[in-house]
Amino acid sequence: MQNRADLHRHLDGSLRESTAMELATELNISVPKNLYFKPHMDLGTALSHFEFTLSLLQNTKNIARVGKEICEDANADGVELLEIRFGPHLHQREGLRLEEIIDAALEGVDGKAGLILCGLYGDDPKLIKSFVEIAKDRLGVVGLDLAGGPDSSQEFKLEDYSEAFSLAAEYGMGRTVHASEGRSPEEIITAVTKLQAQRIGHGVTLLENPKALELVLENDIVIEACPTSNLQCGVIPSFQEHPIGKWLDLGVKACLNTDNTFFSQVSSSSEHQNALSINGMDEQKLSKAIENGLAAGFTRR
Ligand SMILES: [Zn+2]
Repeated sequence: MQNRADLHRHLDGSLRESTAMELATELNISVPKNLYFKPHMDLGTALSHFEFTLSLLQNTKNIARVGKEICEDANADGVELLEIRFGPHLHQREGLRLEEIIDAALEGVDGKAGLILCGLYGDDPKLIKSFVEIAKDRLGVVGLDLAGGPDSSQEFKLEDYSEAFSLAAEYGMGRTVHASEGRSPEEIITAVTKLQAQRIGHGVTLLENPKALELVLENDIVIEACPTSNLQCGVIPSFQEHPIGKWLDLGVKACLNTDNTFFSQVSSSSEHQNALSINGMDEQKLSKAIENGLAAGFTRR
């Protein structure tokens, strides 16, 4: 299979299993019975899996190590353009400063991957803005993301992050947003029009809203598809029914990504191989998806 990009891979969901076990033993942290995602969980259950891996990643040494190993694993799997994302504020249980955490990740990836900083839906927009300020002179940080999902208890809405994303644009950082992961396609519209998103993570419900589709096509928005993750998080009925085949037919710049190699037990090559079983996919469209991914990496001006 030709070399590929993986633009959507979470650091805390993509540890090597052997490393996770080693760190758990070293830190005396018990290993949960159900480590892997299973089909048709909900997004909330999926997000709870991160509790274990995050507990292993509360010092700079482990963050750097995992960053480095993810680059090695991706490279060995034929990924020539890699972006790794993580929420630095999730690694502060032992009192690390955000700068130290981001620098540890940068040291680990050592220029072999771009780093994307993730806020989470519901976070204080001021915090997300502080990520951007830290990233201003750290050019290895190539982008900003909003991950997780909205719920009714959250004070802040998607549009409340517009200032942080606008600052990211000003500093030449790329913008991507987890949107419409089985939720309203309106999120895509908000992400593009209010947060200046150039890429959308998941975007599964895109075709339910003609306006969202028009906006995506007009602005060459790239959709970071993660079909296995979508099946496991219960946002598509079956792997075969992932909409990427339809998207590519319509000219949407979609690419294939892993999301979480450890939890989902996938690799970039397995995800691309399996994508051929999705309705409407064929070798030609797979090549197009690969081309789209390779053309969509974030670079700092
Ligand atoms: Zn994700």
